[in-house]
Amino acid sequence: MAINFLNDIERQPIQMHRRDGWVWRGDPSGHYTAQSNYNLLREETADGIQDSVYHELWKLKVPLKCTIFAWRLLRDRLPTKINLHRRQVEVSDTSCPLCRNAVEDAGHLFFHCRKVTPIWWESSSWVSQSAAFPKDPKMHFLQHDPSMVDGLRAKRWKWWWIVVTWTIWKQRNKLIFSNDFFDSNKVMDDAVFLLWTWLRNLEKDFSMHFNQWSSNISARFM
Ligand SMILES: [Zn+2]
Repeated sequence: MAINFLNDIERQPIQMHRRDGWVWRGDPSGHYTAQSNYNLLREETADGIQDSVYHELWKLKVPLKCTIFAWRLLRDRLPTKINLHRRQVEVSDTSCPLCRNAVEDAGHLFFHCRKVTPIWWESSSWVSQSAAFPKDPKMHFLQHDPSMVDGLRAKRWKWWWIVVTWTIWKQRNKLIFSNDFFDSNKVMDDAVFLLWTWLRNLEKDFSMHFNQWSSNISARFM
């Protein structure tokens, strides 16, 4: 719809005596920058939703595309099959592409599907946490609360949440769009590697080699 709309208006001059051009309203210069987009989303968050979840999320300072992804997940704005169906998009089958046993909503796909629960179980054991996994994304995210985990590097626990959900979504899309095979072990491996790259880039005193760190992750996670 967006592409058709743009095709339609592109052929029509909007202002007769001036050249039409694109303007980004999020910045006084009219030019798009990732920073201004970030600020805009932050403002919307601050104005619209007095919710500590979003506040926590923006404070994590992880790559912007991952923050935006997590923000969409927490607000249930990802195009899961059930969300597409709700928006009247024709979806032939709303079942979870991973297990085919339940409707694909965010709570199932990311937290309750039998293909992903082993990932959460295993990682909970790294921080000696044992609790039921809420199905609501916000509740699940809040359970990854540093105050519930001892240690100075508690922020990692929230990074881990973003890394895992991000990797599940990537693999799920590969399965749907490229007919790739969904492998929970691969999700785990990819998520561990991605987290390691964040530690290398975001923690000044972290210099451990990937093999060294990942081979004993349960002891070295925190
Ligand atoms: Zn499933």
